[in-house]
Amino acid sequence: RQAAFRTDIGSLLEQIGTGKESLSFMKRRIRRLASQWGTAAHRLDGKLRRRWREQKKILVHVGFLTEESGDVFSPKVLKGGPLGEMVQWADILTALYVLGHNLKISVSVKELQGFLGVPPGRGSCPLTGPLPFDLIYTDYHGLQQMKQHMGLSLKKHKCHIRVIDTFGTEPAYNHEEYATLHGYRTNWGYWNLNSRQYMTMFPHTPDNSFMGFVSEELNETEKLSIQRNKVNNMAVVYGKEASMWKVKLSQSFLQILHRYMEIHGTVYYETQRPPEVPAFVKNHGLLPQQELQQLLRKAKLFIGFGFPYEGPAPLEAIANGCIFLQPKFHPHSSLNHEFFRGKPTSREVSSQHPYAEQYIGRPHVMTVDFNNSQEFDSAVREIMRTKVEPYLPYEYTCEGMLERVHAYIQHQDFCVPDIPFPPANVSKMWPGGPSGPFALLPNSTGLGWAPNASAPPSWPPLSALQLQVSEEGQSCVEACQHGGLVCEPAFFRFINNKEALSRLEVQCEGVEAEVNHVFPAFSVVQRECGLQKEPLLFSCAGFSTKYRRLCPCRDFRKGQVALCRDCL
Ligand code: UDP
Repeated sequence: RQAAFRTDIGSLLEQIGTGKESLSFMKRRIRRLASQWGTAAHRLDGKLRRRWREQKKILVHVGFLTEESGDVFSPKVLKGGPLGEMVQWADILTALYVLGHNLKISVSVKELQGFLGVPPGRGSCPLTGPLPFDLIYTDYHGLQQMKQHMGLSLKKHKCHIRVIDTFGTEPAYNHEEYATLHGYRTNWGYWNLNSRQYMTMFPHTPDNSFMGFVSEELNETEKLSIQRNKVNNMAVVYGKEASMWKVKLSQSFLQILHRYMEIHGTVYYETQRPPEVPAFVKNHGLLPQQELQQLLRKAKLFIGFGFPYEGPAPLEAIANGCIFLQPKFHPHSSLNHEFFRGKPTSREVSSQHPYAEQYIGRPHVMTVDFNNSQEFDSAVREIMRTKVEPYLPYEYTCEGMLERVHAYIQHQDFCVPDIPFPPANVSKMWPGGPSGPFALLPNSTGLGWAPNASAPPSWPPLSALQLQVSEEGQSCVEACQHGGLVCEPAFFRFINNKEALSRLEVQCEGVEAEVNHVFPAFSVVQRECGLQKEPLLFSCAGFSTKYRRLCPCRDFRKGQVALCRDCL
């Protein structure tokens, strides 16, 4: 069946159910952004020129909201607890619904069992028949619940699963045996999925798929009126929970800021003003999203003190014409910071909001060393002088999210194995000669593969592939970035071969295939070359001081890093 865009969100709201503050929050959000989604649907419909889109049967099982996982978030919705996840799930539900798919929503194990057609009760009752869904979106909690209640059959069906995973999961942590043997074991990883089945909040490591969320969009009139009504000396502090204001240094920086600006906060409190919030701060208490937007429209500065990490609020502030001022970190990661400890990633977080720092940057974002009060002081003064327009990257608009989710649904298929290419026997027959399955063409940024007709179909299309070599100690994430490109894990299977090594004129004394998450790679000193034996370990994120890596890079659309030029 053809999927048809939907613009009336009524029946989505009905499907979401009631009885939890988290669900009410999500519904309020869906209602508030409904017209924005509608406009985006029309635009994307036009852009895709009514191309055939298959309607999928989709189950969304929000594990962290189930009683069985303890549902620690719902009671905190009105108390300053984390809302980012709920923002994202609300937007995922809306995107899937607006794209016209056949949606079922579950927030309890009972509903999950009902939808999957497994008998209720605990114990592991395998699902016997075929899976009644094309796709299942869930989270780590939900995955665990499915394992418990689908038993063995989960293995068989896991290619249909997508895991919403805020901070991401790197391949080395995802591969059970490898993680266990090499010290990458955590509370979360080791599901042996294809790493692109994990979908993140921001485009962290390209090993995962970037799902994202949306922010409020403004029309030209609104943008103008915001710019006219900006109050140059008004600041809003990022942090809705009093504990976030305890961060070291925040008090002294609030003092400096207070010399220049009127400071507003939206810190939750019950009866008394939280002692962490200085008397000179005008605290509004936790605001409904809509009222927060109004406050941000007036403010010139949105300032973070280091926590929470990587949330939606800075994007909303920038979209409403604020400048976001945040601390630069000596990178925080799972190795040195409590918050990230046990998370299945080694990613180094360079500031409170690396996406804002790296993808948006000045003049909308200023990332400074908060230990240096002079630098801080001059940043505040610069912000008061600088005029900025409200800005929202395309990938965080409704149209951008619909476009991306559409592309994933129509093109990502983890049920067919990624067959290596060229197959081993083919490279033996044509050891890199001109009649081989590829011609390697030099171009401005690196080397482009021109596959011959025998290459299997690929998404992203193989025409986007550009081979690069990393430095020693450099990951493919960085190597590709350096060339103005992005690492594309789907292409590893095309460069994991002797032919690629010989095309690059790498001197190998021997070529071994090994289970190692930095392979394919070579050591210049030892003249050792290694190919990857375990496709689940193809990793953009991996690096090693011993090896230079072969990196499959691709181009990307401006403002939509998840998609290459020819990806739609
Ligand atoms: N938010 C809100 N009222 C407030 C402060 C924040 O509704 O007073 C919303 C905000 O609009 C954002 C969401 O909370 O969409 C999540 O914000 P944050 O960036 O703090 O991320 P979190 O740590 O909650 O995941």
